[in-house]
Amino acid sequence: MNAGMVENDRMKKRRIGLMGGTFDPIHHGHLVAAEEARYQFGMEKVIFIPAGIPPHKTRKDISQAWHRFEMTRRAVATNPYFAVSDIEIKREGASYTIDTVRAMGEIYKGWEIFFITGADAVLEILTWKNVVELLEMCCFVAATRPGFKLESLGRKLAHLPQGCLEGIKTLEVPALAISSTDIRLRVWQGRPIKYLLPEAVEEYIYQNKLYLL
Ligand code: NAP
Repeated sequence: MNAGMVENDRMKKRRIGLMGGTFDPIHHGHLVAAEEARYQFGMEKVIFIPAGIPPHKTRKDISQAWHRFEMTRRAVATNPYFAVSDIEIKREGASYTIDTVRAMGEIYKGWEIFFITGADAVLEILTWKNVVELLEMCCFVAATRPGFKLESLGRKLAHLPQGCLEGIKTLEVPALAISSTDIRLRVWQGRPIKYLLPEAVEEYIYQNKLYLL
């Protein structure tokens, strides 16, 4: 290894992933997406951040934050590269991603931050608070479901400054054929959810009688 390579290596920033979502409930699609993003983008770890109150939802739409936090904690427990943070569920009011990235940027000073979430959520990013600043502070990884039309992302985000668009990466995740909406419906209908999500999460759902109303 020559001196230039050593210098390059030293200058390479450490990378961290923030996995943002409602996680109601967390399932294997989310876990596969986070692991694949970690591997492909060379992140040292991925912190799952269950949203307190996602800005576009009301409390009535979603399960209580501590249930979603606890399911996420159980789901990530077996992966040493994964962790969970309660930063959004402890914060008052709507969970704006810009506030989370700013706070994490203080903790992980000098690291390169990646915000990982679903491509359908990224499609709406133009409506998010301080979107240009957000895209300057972190890269986005938009995890796509099978059949997702990538052109729709380009079309919808065409108005963003060019530099911003470059900061949005896409990641195709076949396991995202699993969806939280389908799992909630299955529980309500009494259909099986086994193998769609970790056993510890399945147990938690039944013990706490979630998704029955
Ligand atoms: P959502 O509208 O519930 O989900 C949109 C789609 O993306 C769903 O198909 C969902 O599938 C999928 N998805 C969500 N999170 C994912 C993840 N981490 N990995 C893979 N797929 C995922 O979106 P949301 O969960 O409320 O919001 C996603 C993130 O964006 C959250 O961190 C939220 O705080 C943030 N957000 C920020 C703003 C803002 O700052 N103004 C506005 C909106 C959203 P499943 O249902 O199967 O998860």
